[in-house]
Amino acid sequence: MTSSEKSYKVLVVEDNKLNQMIIMNKLKNNNHLVDVANNGEEGVKLHEKNKYDFILMDIMMPVMDGYDATKNIRKSKKNNNIPIIAITANVLDHDKNRCLASGMNAYLSKPFDFNELKEILATLGFFI
Ligand SMILES: [Mg+2]
Repeated sequence: MTSSEKSYKVLVVEDNKLNQMIIMNKLKNNNHLVDVANNGEEGVKLHEKNKYDFILMDIMMPVMDGYDATKNIRKSKKNNNIPIIAITANVLDHDKNRCLASGMNAYLSKPFDFNELKEILATLGFFI
């Protein structure tokens, strides 16, 4: 079994239904297991409940945004060093810095490009 055939358990935290579907379908087509949270608060709860390999995190979401969700996950007693990749429409440098400052490992701007995600995940040791 090569690393690219490994199946990961992924948490996608994203409020936009279309983006949820696009990300989920691409990951599922590559044999990964995906849970979707509709906002940061749901994402934090799912992280507490289940064990994921990495998290894809939108920034702008109702209830709890991606920055606060990431901070909460980093404070968690469980799997708090899980890789978190921001996926956001924000492209400004200060948004990127804020992502990293809140504890995210990497940053990917929307529109979503699966090859870019593959490259970023490879730098974190995941070959999807
Ligand atoms: Mg959003």
